[in-house]
Amino acid sequence: MSTQPVAPKSPMPNPGLIQIGSVSSIESVIQARLAEERLRLMTEAGVQQRQTHQFKRPVERFFTKDQRGRTTILFGGLTWKHEKLVHGALEGLGYHCEAVPTANVAAFQAGKEFGNNGQCNPTYFTVGNLVQYLQHLENEGMPKPDIIDRYVFFTAGACGPCRFGMYEAEYRLALRNAGFDGFRVLLFQQSGGLNQAEAEAGLDMNLDFFLGILNALNMGDSVNEIGYLCRPFEVEEGATERVMDEGMDYLHDVMAQKRPWKLNGNLVKYLAGFADTAEYIGKFVEQLKGDDYVPALRKVRDRFDSIEIDRLRVKPIVKITGEFWAQTTEGDGNFNMFKFLEREGAQVLVEPIGTWITYMIHQVVQRYNDHKGLEEGAVLPPAWKLHKRAKIEWTYRNKVAKLRLAEAIFKREYHKIQDALGGIGHRLIDQYELQRIGHPFYNSRAGGGEGHLEVAKNIYYSNKDLAHMVLSLKPFGCMPSTQSDGAQSAVVSAYKDMVYLPVETSGEGEINAHSRVQMALGEAKAKAKTEFAAVLEKTGLTLDQCRAWVDAHPETKRPMYHVPHHHGVIGTAANFVTHIAERIQKAKAN
Ligand code: SF4
Repeated sequence: MSTQPVAPKSPMPNPGLIQIGSVSSIESVIQARLAEERLRLMTEAGVQQRQTHQFKRPVERFFTKDQRGRTTILFGGLTWKHEKLVHGALEGLGYHCEAVPTANVAAFQAGKEFGNNGQCNPTYFTVGNLVQYLQHLENEGMPKPDIIDRYVFFTAGACGPCRFGMYEAEYRLALRNAGFDGFRVLLFQQSGGLNQAEAEAGLDMNLDFFLGILNALNMGDSVNEIGYLCRPFEVEEGATERVMDEGMDYLHDVMAQKRPWKLNGNLVKYLAGFADTAEYIGKFVEQLKGDDYVPALRKVRDRFDSIEIDRLRVKPIVKITGEFWAQTTEGDGNFNMFKFLEREGAQVLVEPIGTWITYMIHQVVQRYNDHKGLEEGAVLPPAWKLHKRAKIEWTYRNKVAKLRLAEAIFKREYHKIQDALGGIGHRLIDQYELQRIGHPFYNSRAGGGEGHLEVAKNIYYSNKDLAHMVLSLKPFGCMPSTQSDGAQSAVVSAYKDMVYLPVETSGEGEINAHSRVQMALGEAKAKAKTEFAAVLEKTGLTLDQCRAWVDAHPETKRPMYHVPHHHGVIGTAANFVTHIAERIQKAKAN
């Protein structure tokens, strides 16, 4: 390589041709002189200017419909429960698919090795995880060209504003660096709406696809939460996990056997040009009115209800918040935090993916409300052009109404699943309430990551007596999380009783993170014990009396037995004792 500095390119006019008064020529001369001077200084300082190679999105082969039968769609990044159900949904739609295993530290290292430096932590984990899985296929004996030909990766994408917008490029770069150049990455745009079918014909991102995925995610959320509600109180260790495994296998098969609703062949002929619209409406109606999954969910509920639990164990409730991936994954990506918390005696309140989905709808509604139907940069027509103004107003109201309807339908479907599973899970939080409480600390229009949610959830769960402690899992290098960290200082000083701990997740530092959590958990445990003692004193009951009452009422040892939440009482045991006291009083009154 030549060590001679390369002069930066610049127009070099012939000074003899300069026209006095020609601004562009004078500018050219200035630029030429600047370039000369820059070159002189670089030569003096021994600085070399190297040619830079910008990463360009490679032109990929399409994943076409005729390849479906011999192509496997890879996906991942959620909990194994969500992934299992998504797997079932995709199988039901006729795809071959596989979930990549939960990302571990080796995946993180692979991400660092093959991707760019300076990314946020989930990028390393998820990108490295895909590379690691493909390497595993190769080690199993599959030739690289076959892997590239027979597998595609499906993931969510966005255009920012945080590093999430770079994920697609990162996948492609790391795959190229790892020798899998040409491996296909399919993107589902988060803001792309219900029909993204035109993106890749091999993967039809149509209404059936979205309904299948949404059902899978909603069921995954609800079943996952039941696991975290039962496990800390199970009398027989491992019973919850056993039921969970069986239940997930069963639900997977139910989803895989479900076929999308279709219009009857004769009706298609009869309706001719309206057949597509009719089928679209029919699918929606079937989703809203049908109860395909309800009997299956009830069976799973009954299996969970066979587990014996002891609600009188005093445990601090730890609400998990933070960045989407870090708060969802159940592995090295968040230092296996949920298992650690349960080992340390806590009850974990996990974050459902449903909150994120309603948040995204909510943000679009806010944008429309702010813009009042005007496109970016557009000017409102003068007041006398009434018809134009009316048209803008109508379009805006129409869009907002549709989104609000979508929000309401989504919540209804979510809660339908929750109810079929016994109704013991937490309802989706109202996004307008989160916005109201979070906005004074973090501008609710600031997008990226979890936006104002991190701050709002901290206040919500602490103020509504739903958690003794809030643990925010924030990935190393996460831009929005760093921003909300600043706002959390103001939140914590405004709400003095809050036990809040932000933990930065990374590929290293597990011991340090666990020890910080242990310290905060100590405070939360003390809070839970004090609360329990106060409830015993208030009700005049002893622990032995409560145990005797539970033995006399064995139905209360079942997870599906409903214990109401009492104002000012957080813990499961404290709420249970309050409930026992109420029932004793009621029995006396009768
Ligand atoms: S929210 Fe944070 S961690 Fe997640 S993609 Fe954006 S920058 Fe990365």
